[in-house]
Amino acid sequence: MSNQLSSQEKEHLIQELIRETGGKIDGSGKNIIADCPFCKKRSKYGIFVGRETERKKLFMSHCFSCGRSTNSLEQLLELWNRMDLMVTQTAELNQQLKENILFPLDTEEEIDDTLGIVALPDFYRRAFSHPYLKKRGFVFDDYEYFPVGTTNRLNFRFDDYVIFPVIDEGDTVGYVSRHTWNKEEIDRHNSRAKISGDYKILRFRNSTENEFVKLLYNYDAIIPEVTDTVILTEGIFDVVALTRKLDLYDNEQIKPVATFGKKISLAQIYKLQVKGVTTVVIGYDGDAVDAIKKTATDLQPYFDVLIADIPGGDKDWEDLTPHEIYEVFAYRLKTPIEYKISKIQE
Ligand SMILES: [Zn+2]
Repeated sequence: MSNQLSSQEKEHLIQELIRETGGKIDGSGKNIIADCPFCKKRSKYGIFVGRETERKKLFMSHCFSCGRSTNSLEQLLELWNRMDLMVTQTAELNQQLKENILFPLDTEEEIDDTLGIVALPDFYRRAFSHPYLKKRGFVFDDYEYFPVGTTNRLNFRFDDYVIFPVIDEGDTVGYVSRHTWNKEEIDRHNSRAKISGDYKILRFRNSTENEFVKLLYNYDAIIPEVTDTVILTEGIFDVVALTRKLDLYDNEQIKPVATFGKKISLAQIYKLQVKGVTTVVIGYDGDAVDAIKKTATDLQPYFDVLIADIPGGDKDWEDLTPHEIYEVFAYRLKTPIEYKISKIQE
């Protein structure tokens, strides 16, 4: 259908639809998000205006709340009572929405993906070298691609912490701040503090405004309709380690993201789906067998799922050498079924 529209016609339609629906283009630039004309739910109705793919056709519309959709420009314009905008067409390709591109219609749970903007701690300043991060293997590109900073001892709550902003469509929606002492040092301090009445050190001092189950670290690295594969990891350091060790900095097809733990929420699934991701490789720590099985089951309705089976139990991406990581991707990528069988046998 779209190849019968000139880019001017398309642009004109988009502008008219934005006006008519009172909607706005979302962060990905591919959808007009508006209130649903069927169920009136606010901001859950999307009209696809991005580059067409095999599965997503221009001017399809869908409500993520009530599940109703339209599959052609004609249906859309009829729905909005704007048949005056109809352009003459020779063929109508009444594209059916494939169920896996959108959420199943019986999704009871409301997907709330709204995020507020979060202020970084006072005196936060970005860093481009840091002894603690250097010790953890950070190189120049890492500071460039993964903004991190400190408060330069001007904010005592964050003394000895490194702070990673969590960015989503360019907005800071959270931060993870990690104390730079190792676990043993922190434990030693805290057991002494119990006696002396000194303050206790927290290993993490993270933002609290947005729930982390709604956030993905490295989300903006996923290029809509270009990045087709993401590697799910547990934390920020895994994302940085994988990017560095597989040299993924400028690889547009594959991006690691972190779910902040060993599970994925519907909101996080939705966030991957709207960017057109098709394959998800689960890259959680090797010992997280049950969590990996559960995550695979949660992902399977929406994506092609593979598991990067890290050998040796407690290892994560930071511990592995580039060669060992290569071996995992060359020989230990398993389908969920293969993974489950292999874990019965082990
Ligand atoms: Zn609706």
